[in-house]
Amino acid sequence: MQDWPLLVSKFLEHAEVNHPKREIVSMLPEGGQFRYDFAAHAVRAKKCAQALGRLGIGFGDRVATLAWNTHRHMEIWFGASGMGAVTHTVNPRLFPEQLIYIMNHAEDRVLMLDITFVPLIEAIAEHLTTIEHFVLLVGREHMPETKLKNVLSYEELIEAEDGNYNWPTFDENTACGLCYTSGTTGNPKGVLYSHRSNFLHTLLALTGDTLGIRSTSVILPVVPMFHANSWGIPYAAAGSGAKLVLNGPHHDPETLHKLIVDEGITVTAAVPTVWAGMLKYLQATGKDMAELKIVTIGGSAVPRSMIKTFQDDYGVRVNHAWGMTETSPLGSLGSENAAVQNLSPKEKLDVQCKQGRMVLGVEMCIMDDDGNKLPRDGESSGRVMVRGPWVVKSYFKGDAGNILDDDNWFDTGDVACIDEHGYMQITDRAKDVIKSGGEWISSIDLENEAVGHPKVLEAAVIGRYHPKWDERPLMVVVPEEGQTVDVAEMHAYLEDKVAKWWLPDDVVIVKELPHTATGKISKKDLREQFKDYSFPDA
Ligand code: AMP
Repeated sequence: MQDWPLLVSKFLEHAEVNHPKREIVSMLPEGGQFRYDFAAHAVRAKKCAQALGRLGIGFGDRVATLAWNTHRHMEIWFGASGMGAVTHTVNPRLFPEQLIYIMNHAEDRVLMLDITFVPLIEAIAEHLTTIEHFVLLVGREHMPETKLKNVLSYEELIEAEDGNYNWPTFDENTACGLCYTSGTTGNPKGVLYSHRSNFLHTLLALTGDTLGIRSTSVILPVVPMFHANSWGIPYAAAGSGAKLVLNGPHHDPETLHKLIVDEGITVTAAVPTVWAGMLKYLQATGKDMAELKIVTIGGSAVPRSMIKTFQDDYGVRVNHAWGMTETSPLGSLGSENAAVQNLSPKEKLDVQCKQGRMVLGVEMCIMDDDGNKLPRDGESSGRVMVRGPWVVKSYFKGDAGNILDDDNWFDTGDVACIDEHGYMQITDRAKDVIKSGGEWISSIDLENEAVGHPKVLEAAVIGRYHPKWDERPLMVVVPEEGQTVDVAEMHAYLEDKVAKWWLPDDVVIVKELPHTATGKISKKDLREQFKDYSFPDA
């Protein structure tokens, strides 16, 4: 058989030849909307590659993006990776110290950013030691006043090129994309995707049991391109010829709903927080979901009521998915298999509340703390271990050392059971982090700061359910003798020490915290103790 390297440029070549007139619609950070087709997109992606070459970017160099889901961002995905450089999607929701850390760690040479993020970067630019050029993703007429040095306009930059460019061929194991996760303790860690891993992941994303994407689909990937590759949807759109609609900087229900109706969206995907807002909006306005058929929801557990409302009131099938930055991200998805197809509606809903079943290409098992595999009986709970060709082997630059066990299993830090039909259900989390609105909060960092408060003897932070943000931090404090501390006092103390959105939603005073045999605070017991807790404002 022929050796045809699995490169992401192949998706664009496919779209250009087979779906040239298929549309891409993009909301713009400078205002308004832009509309073109895959043929025009391919030319501009080539111009982007040529322009990067002219800036001195070569094979293996890192090109950072700080950008919303837009057509320009996607041109860079194909342009930079297609030429053999690495697209480093930077998450603007990280706080300044983390942004500085990851861009220096990645040794990014160029930063291509939306104008929205100019103030954010101006404030830290002097600490970015490897960036040679800042490329603002607008035309000359929308360039803002800025203190940044070596600033270029993206439109001007690519207009100077002729688009006469052939995508180079190279080894499919070449690095393609880089994405840092803060979903572990310590500094953010980089996951370096290869062309091969992204290609195989896209093939999976285009199978019938995954996201519901086919050539006739109209897709709105609300999931950001800077967080876990937008679940692979931009590649899948080009690979299938689906129409792609990009929401730019807009995440409010009204704009998203307008796009769903005006563009005839059939498939979409996002974290539960986005859909909680959307369902409220629909209920308040009496509007419906037009052509929408399937919504994939993941990143955090999907509440049962959300699945039921989508399906019963709006006729939209919910596909509950699980994955992580380290798994590219698709790992398990909740589509029906033959074993559950004939269950009663209530039983089917029970299955949908689980995090889905393994897809071809991801092996999964659950293990106890001694490394023994546990049975798939729907009851035995253990650590979720995964392996496969789009699962991380090591973090970028070897950070955190060897992260696989002897059989190549990667420990996800999630705790779950798997039932007899193969559906996995998350029951707990071993990693000490909280996921709020799709982004991570480090409970350990919060605790370390909180114990610096003069009235605090011991503090622990756990995530508790919140209807809008999925999870929010709850701080449990043992005060110094004769003292007490309330939430306002704690906020005032933490305000200049952590990002504002990390501040705990509540502070509860207790006499003592549960400890493990080795003297560590037992988060498991604490979560059990506060399992019925609900936040005062929720
Ligand atoms: P990230 O790398 O930021 O995408 O986060 C991945 C982590 O998000 C997983 O390891 C889980 O802890 C959590 N997660 C993802 N999907 C789900 C889900 N459907 N239900 C519960 N937790 C999830």
